[in-house]
Amino acid sequence: MNVSNRWVRIGLLISGALVLLGVSRPSGLDDVVDLRHWSYPDYTRVVVELDGPVRDGPVRHLSADPAAKRPERLYVDLEGVWVGRRFSDGIPVGDGLLQDVRMGQNTLENARLVIEIEDYERHRSFSLTHPDRLVIDVYGERAGGETLSWPEKGSASKAPGRLPTEMRPVQTVVIDPGHGGRDPGAIGVGGLREKDVTLRLAKVLEKRLRDRGFNVVTTRDDDRSLSLEERTAIAESVRGDLFVSLHANASKRKSLGGIETYYLDQDYERHSLTVAARENGIDRDSVNALQRTVARFRVSETSTHSRQMAELVHGELVEGLNEGKWTVRDLGVKKGPFYVLFLSDTPAILVEAGFLTNKRDAGRLRNTKYLQVLATEIADGLSRYRDSKPRIAARGER
Ligand SMILES: [Zn+2]
Repeated sequence: MNVSNRWVRIGLLISGALVLLGVSRPSGLDDVVDLRHWSYPDYTRVVVELDGPVRDGPVRHLSADPAAKRPERLYVDLEGVWVGRRFSDGIPVGDGLLQDVRMGQNTLENARLVIEIEDYERHRSFSLTHPDRLVIDVYGERAGGETLSWPEKGSASKAPGRLPTEMRPVQTVVIDPGHGGRDPGAIGVGGLREKDVTLRLAKVLEKRLRDRGFNVVTTRDDDRSLSLEERTAIAESVRGDLFVSLHANASKRKSLGGIETYYLDQDYERHSLTVAARENGIDRDSVNALQRTVARFRVSETSTHSRQMAELVHGELVEGLNEGKWTVRDLGVKKGPFYVLFLSDTPAILVEAGFLTNKRDAGRLRNTKYLQVLATEIADGLSRYRDSKPRIAARGER
């Protein structure tokens, strides 16, 4: 070896060491933008946000090793990712399910996420785009948490600590007015903005539901930006029984008008994918990827309840409007891969209350009287759904 080669080698060794020490970052790797976690009643969600597409290996489970003083843990390697030492000390969680989450550089070209666990039953993981992120939900029995009696204990699809959907009385509705803040949603005839229509409709719907004895939580009650994850996090954290996302449609075909109601299921029509792409703020390719993600999970149990709710609400809407001289085109109950319907375990629907790009629909959606009728019909549909479920036992009732 000649002298210059030796110096090149030493140089490489030094830069490799600097890279490993987290002092510098090699080029061509994606960066970790953020590492976050949310605690829900039944599980804890860990999200790693990257600045490039997620290439994750399998999530592996390791039992606790008391001799080495290592807790039970999950880990996953992310290819082509640089994290350096930013999260090597870990972020404490301490919510009864997880101890902490940390990341470190496993090799020069892959980063490892480690989740240290207090109680573990199962997990699920999936990746999402816009922004690119890996999501891992860890389910378990929260230490010191609330426990309910279980008629079918051990059923894997049911999170512990909460009665199965069909046994749970319907009390709390989470209303999610679509878009807001920086995101105006669709813009229609005369500049009518979807975010304004959905907020106005939500406010009337909230009143109608309170009149009918529901508890109501809204994801936003003013003009603010809210991520799709934050919306579903609200639904989960208040233990909402139903989630109703309000939207208004748009189409290049100005003549197209009408109402359609969506729920989440495994397969979709072409039209649903177009609507889902727009509402998710992603392109068609990303919707196809999301569709594949949804297909990996058994959503059928929640989806049965969501379908029932969608049919009752949609039925009331179409019937009520047509009776009240607001003849409306019935576009039907449909399946669609919407983030807000997927990220929560709560039975959920998404109502597209009309087309902003259609002159007649847009005119109506500006009309307070029309929004009141819409809200009344949606509330009636949700009441009918509630009536089909077990009632809350009155005080003293046995
Ligand atoms: Zn929308």
